[in-house]
Amino acid sequence: MRALRLMGPNELKVDEVPDPKMADSKNAVLEVTKTAICGADLIPYWGYVPGWEWGTTMGHEFVGIVKDVGSGVSLIKPGDRVVSSSMTSCGVCWACRHGMQPQCEKRALFGFSGAYPRLDGGQAEMVLIPNADRDLWVLPAEISDEAGVFVADILSTAYRGVKRAHVKLGDTVAVVGCGPVGLMSILTARLIAGRVIAVDTVPARLEQAKAMGAIPVDASTQDAVAAVMELTGGRGAEVVME
Ligand SMILES: [Zn+2]
Ligand SMILES: [Zn+2]
Repeated sequence: MRALRLMGPNELKVDEVPDPKMADSKNAVLEVTKTAICGADLIPYWGYVPGWEWGTTMGHEFVGIVKDVGSGVSLIKPGDRVVSSSMTSCGVCWACRHGMQPQCEKRALFGFSGAYPRLDGGQAEMVLIPNADRDLWVLPAEISDEAGVFVADILSTAYRGVKRAHVKLGDTVAVVGCGPVGLMSILTARLIAGRVIAVDTVPARLEQAKAMGAIPVDASTQDAVAAVMELTGGRGAEVVME
């Protein structure tokens, strides 16, 4: 199959690699239909991850159709359309049982090595899923592949941030930085907050933030703090997310 591998700093290659083979009863093989690039991919791309194994297949955000599952998989079956969890987790260690799956003692990040044990990712025609019942989530029919791929990381990261910021009904929320995660934070916070103020310096991002219902503040042409103060009667925002 073909896979996008990182061969050295700034050196990506679409390469022929062996098809994934299941080695454990909890495994599954997924045929990828949609995948995304993350800001986190730039860290190994620039050569900044100690111990990175050159040749690792990139990608932790992907949607696909399940091709095969091991005998120990009960929630996922061949033919299911699913989204990845970005990271694997065991479900039974201390961190997993305290709701901190990204700190799982056995964690790995798809499309990463060095910082975690190597786990080839989803920027490929197929990907091996270690713990299918936990690493995959079945997508409802009405969610497109393109919408579903946001659940892998970008939307869920933003949602977690909004939850942890304890946004309350009627709060003013200022979101500083309107890249993909910032925009998803706006989308999520808008469901609860009274107002969301979007701060960035890139016009296209601010346009998108405005379309999502936020008040845009261009920090390259105005003092962002002064703008937030003015919008809130001199009190400032109840919640600021960066
Ligand atoms: Zn990501
Ligand atoms: Zn765990």
